[in-house]
Amino acid sequence: MSQTIKKVAVIGAGTMGAGIAGQVANAGVEVWLLDLASEGDNVNAVAQRGLERLHNPDSPGLMSKDAEARIHIGNIRDDFDQLADCDWIAEAVVERLDIKQDLYRRIEAVTDDKVIITSNTSTIPISLLTEGMSPAFCERFAITHFFNPVRFMRLLELVRGEHTRQDVMDTLDAFCEERLGKGVVICADTPGFLGNRVGVFAIQCALHEAVKLGLTPAEADAIFGRPMGIPKTGVFGLYDLIGIDLMADVAKSLETILPASDDFHQYAQPVPLMTQMIANGQTGNKGGQGFYRDGDQGREMLDMATNSYQPLQRLQLPLALQAEAEGVAVLLQDNSDYGQFAWRVLSSTLNYAAHLLPEVGNDLVPIDDAMKLGYNWIFGPFELLDQIGVDYVITRMQNEGRTPAPFLLQAQNQRFYATASGKLASLRYQGGHTDIVRTAGVLRFSELRQTLTPINTNAKASWWVYDNAAIVEFHSKANALDSESMAILRDATEQAQALGLSGVVVHNDAQHFSCGVNLVAFREFFEAGDWTGMDNFLNDFQQTVLTMRQCKLPVVAACAGMSIGGGFEVVLHADKVICHANSVMGLVESGVGVVPGGGGCKETLYRWFERTGDMEKAAWKAFMNLGYGRTATSPLEAAEQAMIRSDDQYLMNRDRILSTALGQLTAVTKTAAREPLQMVGQPAFEAMVQWLEDARGKGLLTTHECTVGTEMARIVTGGEIEPGTMMTEQDLFNAERASFLRLAKTPATQERIVSMLDLGSPVRN
Ligand code: NAD
Repeated sequence: MSQTIKKVAVIGAGTMGAGIAGQVANAGVEVWLLDLASEGDNVNAVAQRGLERLHNPDSPGLMSKDAEARIHIGNIRDDFDQLADCDWIAEAVVERLDIKQDLYRRIEAVTDDKVIITSNTSTIPISLLTEGMSPAFCERFAITHFFNPVRFMRLLELVRGEHTRQDVMDTLDAFCEERLGKGVVICADTPGFLGNRVGVFAIQCALHEAVKLGLTPAEADAIFGRPMGIPKTGVFGLYDLIGIDLMADVAKSLETILPASDDFHQYAQPVPLMTQMIANGQTGNKGGQGFYRDGDQGREMLDMATNSYQPLQRLQLPLALQAEAEGVAVLLQDNSDYGQFAWRVLSSTLNYAAHLLPEVGNDLVPIDDAMKLGYNWIFGPFELLDQIGVDYVITRMQNEGRTPAPFLLQAQNQRFYATASGKLASLRYQGGHTDIVRTAGVLRFSELRQTLTPINTNAKASWWVYDNAAIVEFHSKANALDSESMAILRDATEQAQALGLSGVVVHNDAQHFSCGVNLVAFREFFEAGDWTGMDNFLNDFQQTVLTMRQCKLPVVAACAGMSIGGGFEVVLHADKVICHANSVMGLVESGVGVVPGGGGCKETLYRWFERTGDMEKAAWKAFMNLGYGRTATSPLEAAEQAMIRSDDQYLMNRDRILSTALGQLTAVTKTAAREPLQMVGQPAFEAMVQWLEDARGKGLLTTHECTVGTEMARIVTGGEIEPGTMMTEQDLFNAERASFLRLAKTPATQERIVSMLDLGSPVRN
């Protein structure tokens, strides 16, 4: 039985405590954030600073102003009595046993047995934390180990102590999973739990092997990164992100708590250069320089032999590109230092993960989950082993005189994951395959798809039938959309009814739903001067998103991560959106010098007209949204910007959006066909052009930005037409394409697109 959590206190308002309080508030729950009392005017200055950090624009910890209002700041001297009626107290103070234990004693004195207490410790075992505490206290105590930044990192390691009550575990599990949106992994009370145990090993191993092989940071990150399904920060970029000094401390603390027999010890030390770097203040991003830095002439990289910085050349290793396209195993067929590096890091890390069984339990799934949810790996260690082939790893290790972990040997001639039962099953330590059972309502398409056969598929997308619904999945790099992706979407919307299905869900389990239309296609068109080809491409995109509306069955977009540009145009044409709470949405086309050409301008105008009932206001709102390329960083912001509608829905846990979409599909009402709009015409168009000119005069816009803005103004007003002229949905589609083509013919837009593709960001010209 789990209890309801209505009031929470977080003690310690540092990086983690403030983040936890922010996420509790995002979930709609009142929370007290307490830290030490300060001298001077503001007794709550420390907690206040914690709250302010949640406003970091690069990583906003709060979803809305309402959420902020639910956080009450205070201090442990004056506000300790607030703890008495809390349902959950989360301790997130500095990693010092004496300070934590002192707090627990004070907490026990003011709370009864109903109040749950947890620690966010990364390294201290529960047995030590609760040493000397009463049995009743130990029963209501657990570890909730969140990852930074709390709002965005999906993993929560929930650790049970020897005496923790089952109802305490159930309450924390349910609240953290459904309300805080975390992927809860129940861990044994072992050093570093799961994520850091494997993650820190992998990072340290990659660091040491890169140095031994004399690879530059960029070379190492090009291999230990996307080709392995690991974020592109790789190892050196991640070091800079976390902080080189902090990372050295983390490795050191893991070293002190792991037994001498643990393989981590061979990689635990910092490489000698790092000690010098820390002493010089080269601590990574926070110190302004680490293995990389921003120099006057652009990005620079550390030359590790001389400890000096050199310009960073964009590195495109053919091996890395091939592995990204064909899979991780390609890396291991390569005889160069890059291939050697990949082998050493992968074999050591995957073998290390396999060695953790049975110490951490008999089930490999929590280890894979921890790496995917806590370190953003696309594949967990055992999924990687299946891709490479466990027999290959065993043979090559044995040829090198190394001893594979017992669990690897057990898996010989088989796979760690199997679908023979019709469900996804995982191999148990000293056992057979057992079906993976997720909490009710949690459904990951990346797992489900392994048990299904697609109805239609190509390199960029597939569609499947599950639970009598069509599921359309984009699966290209960054889910960039092109004509192949659209062909699958169209096929599903056109065929679903004939097959007697209940509706269509557009969904995928990648980090981002879709980062927009593949710009490579546009580049090819303009480099070939193929304007008809470009127009046909856009027309096809528009008519495909229209099939979502024209399809007689409900079409739901179940999206998470970024849905931007063309990806958001797909979302805009769904009958209902069920999205994740951290969704980022918007039409960002102005950045690359074009207008949204797949119905984005049209829909933005319709949405604002629906919202305001006033075409003049709607045209201006649409003009501003499109011109600034505004993005919303939460569904609440998206609703404010008329990007989603009041009956659209968001969920805190992205693992629940698919099952919710499927469950609601038959109840979704089809959106009515778009009626023609009475356009505001020439006067408003001229006023917008004047606004652009004024902004340019003040130095706020470049000439080309005015050109792009003028095209947006033309679409949303109708341009040089009489006020009141009617335009149909198709007229607006045509206007989008005409403006898009006019802009695509300009050198400035072409320069923006090329720079985006080649350098990763558009020039501002
Ligand atoms: P931090 O240094 O940013 O913040 C710690 C806060 O605790 C400070 O604001 C400090 O004033 C406060 N504090 C110290 N003594 C206190 C007391 N007696 N009462 C109330 N407040 C007190 O630390 P952090 O990074 O937020 O880490 C907090 C905990 O979370 C640690 O146990 C750490 O191991 C763990 N953790 C950290 C991370 C991370 O990435 N930073 C990740 C997971 C877990």
